[in-house]
Formats: sequence, structure tokens, C-alpha cells
Amino acid sequence: MTQEPSRQSGANSRRVLVTGGAGFIGSHLVEALLDRGDVVTVIDNLSTGRRSNIPEVHERLRFIEADLGDALPGMAESDRFEEIYHLAAAVGVKRILERPVESIETNIVDTVALLRFAEHHGPTPETGARTLIASSSEVYGKSEAAPFSEEDDCVYGPTTAGRWSYACSKAIDEHLALAHADAAGLPVVVARFFNTVGPRQVGDYGMVLPNFVRAALMGDAIPVYGDGGQSRCFCDVRDVVPAIMRLLSTPSCVGRVFNIGSDHLISILELARRVASVLGSTSEPKLIPYDKAYGPGFEDLRLRRPDLTRIRDAIGFEASIPLDVTIRDIASQINTSAAASGGNAVQ
Ligand code: UDP
Repeated sequence: MTQEPSRQSGANSRRVLVTGGAGFIGSHLVEALLDRGDVVTVIDNLSTGRRSNIPEVHERLRFIEADLGDALPGMAESDRFEEIYHLAAAVGVKRILERPVESIETNIVDTVALLRFAEHHGPTPETGARTLIASSSEVYGKSEAAPFSEEDDCVYGPTTAGRWSYACSKAIDEHLALAHADAAGLPVVVARFFNTVGPRQVGDYGMVLPNFVRAALMGDAIPVYGDGGQSRCFCDVRDVVPAIMRLLSTPSCVGRVFNIGSDHLISILELARRVASVLGSTSEPKLIPYDKAYGPGFEDLRLRRPDLTRIRDAIGFEASIPLDVTIRDIASQINTSAAASGGNAVQ
């Protein structure tokens, strides 16, 4: 279903395309772009996104529910964009292991289509749209050289271990984006998202924080995979979104790759305890072997931490929302959604 956005907008408003705009990060971005006064088109097939994540009706928002490969060829010649954010992707390690073919194809084929589209649908017929390609800290693979910086080597396991297909597909996306920049002068920015968290993220695809918050709210055991000694850095989506908008508006960032996230490490066991304590829950962590969580042979990354020197130098990026605030906000959003869907709030 398509809603035409009003073509009337302020002098400084931009025409922006967001793929995956009904997803977790995409919907926060759409909100920020609408607040900036932009005219926004969202393409999302709602495979993991939710229509309710973005406004049902807004005069500057057009929502197209479709696969990218179906929607892009149908766009009019007059559909021109100053900015494109390509966030549509297969998400979550669990989902990728469950649906490998679909995930690899989505990540590669859609990016091929999107980049070709971006070359021909910029603000004028002669220019490409400024395009942000969402990549992932997964591209570093199982490198042990943390903190990871953008020019570091990527280290993958064998092709017989399905886990690395996501990393490889995202690495191909990055190569494609940079090749379009080199070959056709397409103004692209690659953003490597580290663990991003916040309201609207759902636990269904394996993401740790919403799972922990839900368990703590229910008073259930908190499922910690492995020994819980693996560590991650969690950054609130409301810090990430303004940063990607700045990256795409800053000419010196074009043609480059940026880590984006927080660099405050926390072990997963510590995270489980922190969630329970912040929410005043009596839930205790429960260790679950990796084999049981993901199937046999799963290789988890022991430590994932970004080197943020490049993004700090480029746009002065600094994450500011404390993890405890994020935990509380996820909890209140889960409670609000439960109440809205007629269920009881879980606290
Ligand atoms: N994890 C966990 N319990 C869960 C979901 C995830 O212990 O219910 C672990 C997972 O094995 C990983 C970490 O938490 O070590 C972060 O998982 P997530 O999928 O959120 O991010 P990623 O693995 O991509 O860093």
C-alpha cells in the first residue's frame, strides 16, 4: 500500500529514501528525518520491521510495503533523492542461521539493486544520491584484534560454518559500495554498526538486550549463552541515528567506512545482572550452552569493541545515553506494547 507524501516542504527539507524504515534502527531514523522537515519515502517488506513503528499517516511520509527488488524498478523517473539510507537487511544471528539463503540473498542482491538505483536517482539526473550503506561489526569476523578499527583485517571461518555468511555478505556490500564510489563517483558512506539497542528492538531474532529485559520483567531466568564471559559494547539507537545523519551530511565522510557504537565493554553475564538490578527484578542469570542456543558448532565472538577514533575525528561523535536509561526505556516500551495489545503489562 502506498501513500503519497505531500511534495510541499520547507526550503531546506531533503527528499530521503529509507530502506528498512519500519525496522528498529530505520524507524528511529524516519522519526528524526521527519523532525528535520524532510520528505521521506520508506520501502520495507515488513519481514522483521513493523508498520506500527512509523506514523500511520504523515503528510511528508510515503510508505511502500514491498521487497526492494520489486519496489525500485517501479519507482518513477521523477523519484529523486538527496539522501538514501540503505538499512534493509536480514537481521539477527539466529534468523541468519535459520534462513541462510534468504539472508545472504537479501543482503547482497538488494544492495546491488539499491546502489544502481542510487546512481540514477540523485537530486538531478546527472548526480547520484548521497547513500549510506548499513554494515555491521560482524564484518570483522572472528578477529581477536579488538578494539577493531576500520582498516583492520577481517577474519572469517570456513564456508562450511554458516555463521560467517552474514559477515561475508556485509563485506561484499561494503566492497560494492566503495567500488561504486570509485568507478562512478557515487557519494557513499559505509556505517559499521556495533551492538545497537533501544526501544522497538525485539528479541525474536536473537538480540540479547530485549530478551534479557523481557525475562527480567517476567521474573524468568535470564538466558545467558555460553559462560557469559563474552563481552560487547551497547550503544543506544538514539545516539546512533543523529550520527549517521551527520555522517551523510559531512562531505569529508564520503567514500569512507566508519565504526559506530559505544566503546564501553560489559560482559553478557554482567549485563544480565545489570538488567535485573536496574529493573528491580529477582530474575537470575541461567547459563545455556551455545549448542543448545544456536545448534552445533556455533562460534561466538569473545570480545567485540570498536575503535571510535575515526568517527570522533570526523563528526565529534560521542554516545551519551547511559545503558541503564536504555534498559528502563526498553522495559517501559515492552510494557506499553503489552498493554496496547490487550495483554497485561509484564511488570
Ligand atoms: N546472547 C545471550 N542470550 C540471549 C541472546 C544473546 O547470552 O538471549 C549472547 C550472544 O550469544 C552474544 C551476545 O549475547 O554473545 C550478544 O548477542 P547479540 O545477538 O545481541 O549480538 P552479537 O552476537 O551480534 O554481538
